[in-house]
Amino acid sequence: MGQEASQYVGRFAPSPTGPLHFGSLVAAVASYEDAREHGGRWLVRIEDVDEGRTVPGAADAILKCLAAYGMTSDAPVVYQTQRKHLYQAALEALGTHAFGCACTRSSPGPCRCGIDGLPEGTVARSWKVRADGVRISFTDRIHGEIEETLSDFVVRRADGYFAYQLAVVVDDADQGVTDVVRGEDLLDSTGRQIYLQQLLGYRTPRYMHIPVVRNESGDKLSKQTHAPAVDPNGDPATLAAVHDFLRRHGRLS
Ligand code: GLU
Repeated sequence: MGQEASQYVGRFAPSPTGPLHFGSLVAAVASYEDAREHGGRWLVRIEDVDEGRTVPGAADAILKCLAAYGMTSDAPVVYQTQRKHLYQAALEALGTHAFGCACTRSSPGPCRCGIDGLPEGTVARSWKVRADGVRISFTDRIHGEIEETLSDFVVRRADGYFAYQLAVVVDDADQGVTDVVRGEDLLDSTGRQIYLQQLLGYRTPRYMHIPVVRNESGDKLSKQTHAPAVDPNGDPATLAAVHDFLRRHGRLS
């Protein structure tokens, strides 16, 4: 095992918005198997940063279900709700790259808070990162060379919660994650995350975005599309179907 291989740290980072469905199990297995193939470690992080979407009991159900399919975290599971101080410190470390924004959904025209400052008599509702026109390129292990042009984006939301984009970057760096393996639906978040890594002086992990599982109408399996939960007791046929999906997409031999 080379030095690079022995240092591999992967992760699965589910949001506790419901039980695992086939699509999320595919993402879990893909990251788990990639870590194992590289002789690496595999971590589980519960992404409960968006507290309004958290379903009580879902995090425990996800962890139990992962264990039933043979996957347990190689380090204690971390919860984003217990790490807000890290996100706050990162927001402060962004300094003048971040700006307060007073816009509401009913504000007319594009946001000018990053250019003109807060309008007279208003207070910051959310915090954004100045990123308009920034170009980011990276190599995805499946998709190859990707280039993205960014716009300003939210790092602390008007409801007071930190945004996923900031939390995920802080956590991946803090946990020493070297390899992110996740669904293709997050490909277009990667540019923003790499830009935050650059601003905060973090290393950029390798990325691999695996195809998302779609239902018969072509929609991504998700809670929104009412994807059914997988058998929480670890059904061998389901696991075989997950492996088959990954094999068909060239992610398992
Ligand atoms: N928590 C995100 C989700 O469940 C995944 C984040 C990530 O893997 O970067 O969609």
